[in-house]
Amino acid sequence: MFNAKLALKSHPEAITPVSLNDRIIFGSQEIVIIGGPCAVESLEQMEAVASRLRLAPVQALRGGAFKPRTSPYSFQGLGLEGLKILSDIKRRYSIPVVTEVMTIEQIEAVALHADMLQVGSRNMQNFDLLKALGKVNKPILLKRGLAATLEEFICAAEYILAQGNSQVVLCERGIRSFDDYTRNVLDLGAVVALKQLTCLPVIVDPSHAAGRRELIAPLAKAAIAAGADGLIIECHPQPEKSVSDAAKALSLEEMVNLVHNLEPIAQAVGRCILPPIASLMAA
Ligand code: PEP
Ligand code: MN
Repeated sequence: MFNAKLALKSHPEAITPVSLNDRIIFGSQEIVIIGGPCAVESLEQMEAVASRLRLAPVQALRGGAFKPRTSPYSFQGLGLEGLKILSDIKRRYSIPVVTEVMTIEQIEAVALHADMLQVGSRNMQNFDLLKALGKVNKPILLKRGLAATLEEFICAAEYILAQGNSQVVLCERGIRSFDDYTRNVLDLGAVVALKQLTCLPVIVDPSHAAGRRELIAPLAKAAIAAGADGLIIECHPQPEKSVSDAAKALSLEEMVNLVHNLEPIAQAVGRCILPPIASLMAA
């Protein structure tokens, strides 16, 4: 059907689990939650996030050091300084970190500091970047392009897999349509289809799909019900002060509340949410 091989299922149950460590594995019965701000802004900000989320069922932190922004005049991220903050947080709070890589030149530094490298929507078809990430020994979080078909999305993953890196997680983050009230349309049909077609874990980003914080919790629940293997959600200690994506950032309390309410949905589809980092590390 599509001109891909490694990304496609060889049999109906086939799945390639992707691990951040020996307890945090995407594509198992346990659902993985990634939380954190859009951008790394300061050490204090990330400390506030990590110290709160490690006690909640959240198993990895997100935060961009290199930010793809619509305008060149908007905050572009702290760059290397942001990566160092993530490294420091990861070490002190024993929590894996996920951050975006935008160029081939950034790969080495990002791979040194992060546990998982995110390819943003705007780079989903940056084929040279994808090929280079295929040679990296770190899991890749590949976000669906703003208007990418499933064939384009699966073939983008195939570029990474074909170079030898089998650790790819797909992320549905909303696609552009005619109505901008919800910013993008969260394509849950794509989540179901990707789970049926590919052997890759599929997670959902309700934050970038919805663009409005009040829509995020119900969409997160719907994603779990539709079979997503995880979620990536934006939250901030002071959402209104967030330097990017303020309208869609949850407060830390809203985030904690949301993740605590996911368990019954997970149970209803025969799954569970991984426990908090604090208890995973104590075990
Ligand atoms: C992000 O995760 O902060 C981001 C920029 O996402 P996307 O590439 O999906 O727009
Ligand atoms: Mn963002």
